[in-house]
Formats: sequence, structure tokens, C-alpha cells
Amino acid sequence: MTVTPASFIKGTVSLAAGMGVTLKSFFQPVVTSQYPREVLEITPRFRGHIKLLASPENPLENMCIACGICVRNCPSGSIKKVDGEKREGEKRKRVTVYMLDFTTCSQCGICVESCPSKAIGFSGDFNIAGLKREDFYFDLVKEFDKRKKAS
Ligand code: SF4
Ligand code: SF4
Repeated sequence: MTVTPASFIKGTVSLAAGMGVTLKSFFQPVVTSQYPREVLEITPRFRGHIKLLASPENPLENMCIACGICVRNCPSGSIKKVDGEKREGEKRKRVTVYMLDFTTCSQCGICVESCPSKAIGFSGDFNIAGLKREDFYFDLVKEFDKRKKAS
């Protein structure tokens, strides 16, 4: 391959242009994060799996009354089971089991919108991982209790 003066100059200019871009980026602020050591704050609009929300009056309780409306409205059949019990002296039922199959959930939000108690919302969990299907079956009551203990 013969290197002509013209191709040499063209190559040098191209190299200098590339180095210029690299040098410019070198002095600009870093826009990436060192995940997992540094985890960015997730936007409130992010849709992870659904979760039971805490009552504004009592953060230790969730607001689900186990009415089953979300189960009937879910177009994907992802809410497998919702059950509850009415304790003595209480006016409303309390949820005891809330099984979600997250493998089929499309995060459409119909369950969230149709809940009469505003008891569910989307979690900010973006990094869940598993090796088998069952790793994505969640009991939201247990998950709520876990969050409650952690807070
Ligand atoms: S977000 Fe949509 S698909 Fe997922 S559980 Fe709720 S209704 Fe079903
Ligand atoms: S989450 Fe809402 S719609 Fe679903 S069972 Fe509980 S109260 Fe009813």
C-alpha cells in the first residue's frame, strides 16, 4: 500500500479530530454511574412490580381490603390470589395473601387505577433477577411486612 502525501494529511487530520473529541470528553462531567456501588435515584414514574402501599394514617398497615377487584380486572391474570380476614371488632377485611406472578405482568396499571382503596402502586425495584420462574412470584403481603421491618 502506497502512502501518498494527500492520504497522509487526511489521516493525520482525522486522527487529530478524533483526539480532539476524546480530549473534550475528558474534561466534561461524568454522566455514568458506578453501578452497583452507586445507585441512581429512580424516577417516581418508573414502573416496577406492583406493591402494597402503606396507609397514610398508619404506615405499619397497608390499605388492601382484599376485595378482589384487581384480580378480576388484571388483563394478564397475573394476580393469582388475594385473600383476607376480618378481625374481631374491625370494620374492614385485611389482606393476608396477595400473590403476583410478575412473569406475565405487563405493568399496564389497570390494577392500580381500579383499586377502590388506592392500596397498590408501582415499586421502584428495577434490578430484580432470578434463575427460575418462581423467583418472580411475589407475595406482596410478605414483601410489605419485610419493607415495614426494614424501615
Ligand atoms: S399492572 Fe396490569 S398486568 Fe400487572 S398485575 Fe396490574 S393489571 Fe395485571
Ligand atoms: S389491591 Fe385494591 S383492588 Fe386489589 S384486593 Fe386490595 S383493595 Fe381490592
